[in-house]
Amino acid sequence: MDRKGILIVVSGYSGVGKGTLMKKLIARYEDQYALSVSVTTRKPREGEVEGRDYFFKTWEEFEGLIARDELIEHAVFCDNYYGTPRKYVEEQLLKGRDVILEIEQKGARLIKEKVPDAVLVFVMPPDAATLEKRLRGRGTEPEEVIRQRLLKAVDESKYVENYEYMIVNDDIDRAVEELHQLVESQHKELDRNLAFAREVQADLRKLVACAYPDGEKKGE
Ligand code: 5GP
Repeated sequence: MDRKGILIVVSGYSGVGKGTLMKKLIARYEDQYALSVSVTTRKPREGEVEGRDYFFKTWEEFEGLIARDELIEHAVFCDNYYGTPRKYVEEQLLKGRDVILEIEQKGARLIKEKVPDAVLVFVMPPDAATLEKRLRGRGTEPEEVIRQRLLKAVDESKYVENYEYMIVNDDIDRAVEELHQLVESQHKELDRNLAFAREVQADLRKLVACAYPDGEKKGE
């Protein structure tokens, strides 16, 4: 039985730990998942690597990608373009891998329009105070940066209802397992397995027709 890959969109407030969640999920189940690397016009941050964290492009290059329809979705976030490369995602899904897009809410909405069987997951902090604590981190960020991130979180919270599932990240290992189990349960949905269900149905009919040439009707 062939298993088709599922497109999983993961969003969450800045500081909620979704990056770590994704890395751990992929490290634990590396044969099953593929993480899409996005394209962006924002400048690389310290330590970020081209092709691992993002593909960094100029504004013109990005608009070329849009014009050639090479992105499944794109959005502007904090004055920069962000987008998901189409080719990689389609190739991985065809190979049967579950593809994760870690993107913001506008992109998530666009994906759901284009790929209705995509699964939209929002990662929540256990409570607001914990998110603030995580944003403050080691206390090295200026107050203004913390303020901006919290304001952004308030803005993002308006779109939570567009998502289908929620994972609370209070314990990272448990959150990884919950996300994995969620994906596994999606694979069991009958709608995703109709071809297989129909194949078994057809084979059963053939089997019954051979074994009981005039009895099939009686069994119905
Ligand atoms: P950052 O600049 O902090 O890496 O990312 C800013 C926001 O852009 C995050 O919410 C992140 O999830 C989102 N993002 C990253 N890649 C994409 C993408 O390909 N498409 C969209 N729509 N958002 C993205």
